[in-house]
Amino acid sequence: MVRAMPLRIMTREEHNISRKQVSPNTLRTLYRLHENGFIAYLVGGCVRDLLLERTPKDFDIATDATPTQIKRLFRNCRLVGRRFRLAHLHFQDEILEVSTFRALAPPEEEEIQEETGDEHRPPRHLKDDEGMVLRDNVFGTPEEDALRRDFTINALAYNIADFTIIDYTGGLEDLQQRIIRPIGDPYVRFTEDPVRMIRAVRFSASHDLAIEPATWEVLCGLSSTISRAAPARLYEEILKLFLKGSARPVFGLLGRSGLLAALFPGLGHWLQGSDVRRTFVEANLAALDRLVLGDTSPSPALFLAALFGPRLEEEALERQRDGIPHLQALDAACAQFMKEICQTVTIPVRIGGRLRGILAFQPSLHRMPPRRPTAMIRRPDFAEAMTYLLLTAGTRQENRSPLKWWEAFLANAPAALAAEPAGEAPPARQRKKRRRRRRRPASAAGQGNGPDRE
Ligand code: ATP
Ligand code: MG
Repeated sequence: MVRAMPLRIMTREEHNISRKQVSPNTLRTLYRLHENGFIAYLVGGCVRDLLLERTPKDFDIATDATPTQIKRLFRNCRLVGRRFRLAHLHFQDEILEVSTFRALAPPEEEEIQEETGDEHRPPRHLKDDEGMVLRDNVFGTPEEDALRRDFTINALAYNIADFTIIDYTGGLEDLQQRIIRPIGDPYVRFTEDPVRMIRAVRFSASHDLAIEPATWEVLCGLSSTISRAAPARLYEEILKLFLKGSARPVFGLLGRSGLLAALFPGLGHWLQGSDVRRTFVEANLAALDRLVLGDTSPSPALFLAALFGPRLEEEALERQRDGIPHLQALDAACAQFMKEICQTVTIPVRIGGRLRGILAFQPSLHRMPPRRPTAMIRRPDFAEAMTYLLLTAGTRQENRSPLKWWEAFLANAPAALAAEPAGEAPPARQRKKRRRRRRRPASAAGQGNGPDRE
């Protein structure tokens, strides 16, 4: 069990959190729980973000009410989760997560809790042989709930009863020092759940916080164990890492820690010893971040193209040099990539297909003047392909004049679309059928949009 720090309570006069910053549904839920005699805290990332004067992504509530008691109190409640039972409160425009305080005790400390019915199984913790937690669903005290969280800065609670902030783990001090520190022994906590290493990188990059030096050392030592996490979960975590506007610093931290090579061995190998390749990828990711800052949400496929595109294009080119036609070479490179990456990260086949679609579109965008540009902009993968052209223009001189041409064309696109004679392009359905029957090669990555054959 993690050793607790002395409890620190910050009074409402000492902190900057105002109820105006909390969503009305969240406040109503907290009050309702409190009025019914339950403890009701705002917990996790939202407290951290409010203290840092950032807008929280969402509000999480923790309480001593059991899932069944929460369900009785709220008609809009649905219980979800197998590993952890959680209550989701459905409002018109948001879903609030309300969780019962949980403990993370080693198996020998387990006690059979007073439970009945469906949610009342004996409490269970389960670790595998190497210490990774497979299951933990024991109700606990507020303190235990704080101690099972990942980092001290994520374990703060805002108490609706008196508007204080409760700190069991030294999170207030670490937040002030802008430090990320796991609760307890970093080795144990990263072994229990290797995804916490990725979370440390995410918060460090997105919140401009330093990973505490001893923790960083442990993280670097354990980086190769990230491959023990479930590939589907890793995909979700990786999207959170790269799509939130700090992909460039994330890439640096992943690289230095060894996590990048462990998550994407093929990419790690390709980057080794080539500063030019690294610079290409970094420039793409920096451009991706600029899109996010400009309020555009890049798609997962676009992010994958930014990160893996340069390597896939290089590999396709190598195959082309052996006499394989461009699209076939690209298909083979993408298929190989999808096969290789699924060992560590599950990229949905559909997204792999869109990644391929973005890359396959590039030669048509480069052809100057393009053939039938009006038909091209109607294709569903045009927007993503254009954005990739823009992302890569930073490092590719040869993109610049096509980009300029297309930007000028798109500025007049409504007029161009209106001016196009109705029968110019053959009906999409017919074209699709013909292409599939006669020419489309089978490909592991090839479930996305049709290949560019204009
Ligand atoms: P974000 O702003 O990105 O949502 P967050 O800190 O709220 O950041 P969530 O993934 O929403 O992150 O998780 C909510 C809280 O649950 C965290 O603040 C942390 O206390 C706890 N938590 C999440 N993942 C883990 C984990 N792997 N191990 C321990 N605690 C975790
Ligand atoms: Mg959150």
